[in-house]
Amino acid sequence: MRYDTIIIGAGLSGLAAGIRLAMFDKKVCIVEKHTELGGLNSFYVRKNRTFDVGLHAMTNFTAKGVRSSPLGKLLKQLRFSHDDFRLCQQEMSEIRFPEKSLCFTNEFEFMRQEVAEQFPDQIDGFNKLVEKVLAFDELNLDDGERLLSQPVLESFINDPVLIDMLFCPLMYYGNAREGDMDFYQFVIMFKSIFIEGFSKPEGGMHYILNLMAEKFKDLGGELKMGSGVKTINASKETVASVTLENEVELATEAVLSSMGYVETLNRCQPELAEAGTCETGQVSFMESLFVVDKEPRDLGYDRSIVFFSTQSRFDYKVPNDLIDISSGVLCCSNNFKYPKPLEEGLIRLTNLASFGEWDRLARKDYIAAKKEWRGRALEQLFTFFPDFSENVVFLDSFTPKTIKKYTGHINGAVYGSPEKVKNGKTPVKNLYICGTDQGFLGIIGATLSGISMANLHLLQ
Ligand SMILES: Cc1cc2nc3c(=O)[nH]c(=O)nc-3n(C[C@H](O)[C@H](O)[C@H](O)COP(=O)(O)OP(=O)(O)OC[C@H]3O[C@@H](n4cnc5c(N)ncnc54)[C@H](O)[C@@H]3O)c2cc1C
Repeated sequence: MRYDTIIIGAGLSGLAAGIRLAMFDKKVCIVEKHTELGGLNSFYVRKNRTFDVGLHAMTNFTAKGVRSSPLGKLLKQLRFSHDDFRLCQQEMSEIRFPEKSLCFTNEFEFMRQEVAEQFPDQIDGFNKLVEKVLAFDELNLDDGERLLSQPVLESFINDPVLIDMLFCPLMYYGNAREGDMDFYQFVIMFKSIFIEGFSKPEGGMHYILNLMAEKFKDLGGELKMGSGVKTINASKETVASVTLENEVELATEAVLSSMGYVETLNRCQPELAEAGTCETGQVSFMESLFVVDKEPRDLGYDRSIVFFSTQSRFDYKVPNDLIDISSGVLCCSNNFKYPKPLEEGLIRLTNLASFGEWDRLARKDYIAAKKEWRGRALEQLFTFFPDFSENVVFLDSFTPKTIKKYTGHINGAVYGSPEKVKNGKTPVKNLYICGTDQGFLGIIGATLSGISMANLHLLQ
């Protein structure tokens, strides 16, 4: 038994790559160490409630019939219809800073108008920045030049608050780098969030993941859950097989891994791991979920998503404390245009967090710290938003440690390494990477990454 390709990981990039390969009759097997699908965007059950781990919203919403957009391309490549994804658009989101607020919807002209009203002396510069963003080829896989965003933004906009307000959502939803952002990544995120926009699938990630896994299996793909890869066996810089944690060895012509670049090479023999050194990611989050006994809008939470900073300057970096309570993201699932209201109110709060600080704690201190820091984050939040603490009927939090435990990403780094391997190649000639460390992030980005790496390396 020899596979054409073994894919490591049944997250979005792995599943998408699997569908592409199985569609072209490749003998393909996805091996996933966890017992659930989804990786960074999986789901879990507590007290009979199913929660999405990583779904605030899907970015890149475009309407049915638009084929040239990332969503349109994704649907076409995976042979899904727009209706299959059951997408429900956002109502309105907001970037809220102490003195200014910018609202945005899935109609970009609304946001342009907001910038014109809130920052009248910056609108010309903002419009020129938008022109540059629209003309930029962010998907060039061979572009090795590093261009950071801060200097580019400063060449168009001279109000630092507007620059920070633009950065806040784009960094929170897709920046592996502290302090600044690669400009190509800024362009990807600007287009996916401001130009295109947010939606959520009816039924959550559970629905989307099952849809993809079923398609993969229907096309003849093999899915092995609870099958962690222990080693990737290469000789003369060519992979011949992978060995699973249960010692079963699977022979293959090629491997496509979504574990992360360093994480993948760490499964090869030591000299290959050394040949592929690359900066490890540090950026991670603490996420708290609050089930409330009312519709969030009745508690004063009427936005789909709010990206906030309680200080006039926004600092995107790994905090010195366990979490940074001065900025965050608030997501209310209820404030999306679902065909019928959700059964319960849900408010999610995301704060930047330090893996190192959480990892140092002993088990009992860890549990106490989650409670303490969730409390501190709420206290700070309620200086800026209405207090909903009396309405909470269930709550849960997870930290960078949880993210590492369930996905294997070093430091629980949600966006992987700041150095992306855009062409997906490694020092081993038939071992490729897809997903987070290849450079396309988020639900849509990771899915497109799986598709493009399968097309580029395994379907030629
Ligand atoms: C808290 C949080 C909130 C988020 N919010 C959003 C959002 O609102 N919108 C959005 O678009 N994106 C969001 N994201 C980001 C998004 O989830 C990720 O960018 C995307 O899911 C990455 O997919 P991937 O396939 O690249 O990687 P992963 O999902 O990490 O897939 C890798 C898979 O490999 C498996 N694996 C690892 N090691 C092994 C091994 N040794 N053997 C076998 N399998 C292995 C893992 O278990 C995992 O399933 C969020 C993420 C988090 C954590």
